[in-house]
Amino acid sequence: MRAIVIGAGMGGTSAALALRQIGFEVEVYEQVRENKPVGAAISVWSNGVKCLNHLGLEEETKRLGGMVDSMSYIDGLTGEVMCRFSMLPLIEEVGQRPYPIARAELQLMLMEKFGLDEIRFGKRMVAVADGPEAATVEFADGSVASGDVVICADGAKSLGREYVLGRQAQRRYAGYVNYNGLVEIDEAVGPATEWTTYVGEGKRASVMPVAAGRFYFFFDVPEPEGAPYEPGTAKEVLKTAFAHWTGGVHALLEAIGPDAVNRVEILDLDPFDTWVKGRVALLGDAAHNTTPDIGQGGCSAMEDAVALQFAFQEHPGDPRAALLAYQRARVERAGELVLRARRRCDLTHAKDAAATQAWYDELRREDGTNIIRGIVGNIVGGPLT
Ligand code: FAD
Repeated sequence: MRAIVIGAGMGGTSAALALRQIGFEVEVYEQVRENKPVGAAISVWSNGVKCLNHLGLEEETKRLGGMVDSMSYIDGLTGEVMCRFSMLPLIEEVGQRPYPIARAELQLMLMEKFGLDEIRFGKRMVAVADGPEAATVEFADGSVASGDVVICADGAKSLGREYVLGRQAQRRYAGYVNYNGLVEIDEAVGPATEWTTYVGEGKRASVMPVAAGRFYFFFDVPEPEGAPYEPGTAKEVLKTAFAHWTGGVHALLEAIGPDAVNRVEILDLDPFDTWVKGRVALLGDAAHNTTPDIGQGGCSAMEDAVALQFAFQEHPGDPRAALLAYQRARVERAGELVLRARRRCDLTHAKDAAATQAWYDELRREDGTNIIRGIVGNIVGGPLT
């Protein structure tokens, strides 16, 4: 069996590895000319880590991952610790530690596992079509590729999605901008092995450790869609937005280099049920574009990859049946994560100020039990449970 995978992001590379593991001949096509991931890091929750382990990346993932032993929420305006608790109950319950990982390193790990030289860079898909014997992709340079299946892991603005759905799907602005980057660990901001989050006024400032003594940081700021922004001024924007916040947030702002901040307007997409058309399937953000508020977009893409492998094991030699089984296994779970993230997004960013205030009050009464229950609820339910 031959699979054509479009997109060498974390979804496409995971799918390529998962299919190759069961004997597929896999070709990966990527539009960019070189590997330059946008964004600083992601938290790979335990479900994502289990998928990476399944793909034979256990040691590498552990090496690149930050150690998060505890979690805290701090009142961003006063510095009061609202709650602080151990992550060990979560790790014990789900049987796997989560690992925040620098995005470039995660991406490179996946690409190297597949074979960097084997990825066909500079190949932009411009059309895809199902067919009776094969599915075919056409590239901007006029070349074509065909396989028993085409897996469109072509991200949030997916062209594959347009083909499978037969229409353009409109993404939705979630109401805030995420500024993120990497800094050296500074305990004035938060303990070295803690995921520390400052909250207030519907905003967040957060750090979590990744490998090599670094914090992945992010700030969430509610802003109107398309708000004017001068590239390179993120630090000034953040200094203004968080001017009256507590010392730990100022320490973080001081640590950030002037050009070291990514700025991302956050969008998502209403879940939809059709991921497959004949021999063509969607995977990752192409199939389920979520806000990052529960840190599950990439993990869900990795779950897709493993589920795809399982579906082909259930239906060897029958690509159409396998892709439909894949769709059945994934649609509900991935859609639920998108909606959970959306609810969490609205609560965190004060869509309803009274609800957000009630959440802040709850955080002051929290001993970790409810937060861990919520996170476990996100983690459990994928192909490796
Ligand atoms: P992408 O990573 O977007 O990859 C798609 C690839 O396809 C790209 O390389 C692109 O160049 C290529 N491509 C697109 N079109 C074509 C074409 N026509 N032809 C050829 N190639 C094409 N997830 C988590 O699990 N945990 C987190 O903590 C987390 N934090 C996040 C924070 C932020 C601010 C954001 C924005 C997202 C976060 N996510 C997180 C989500 C995660 O980044 C995505 O879900 C993940 O990157 C999706 O992977 P993908 O491979 O589906 O898509």
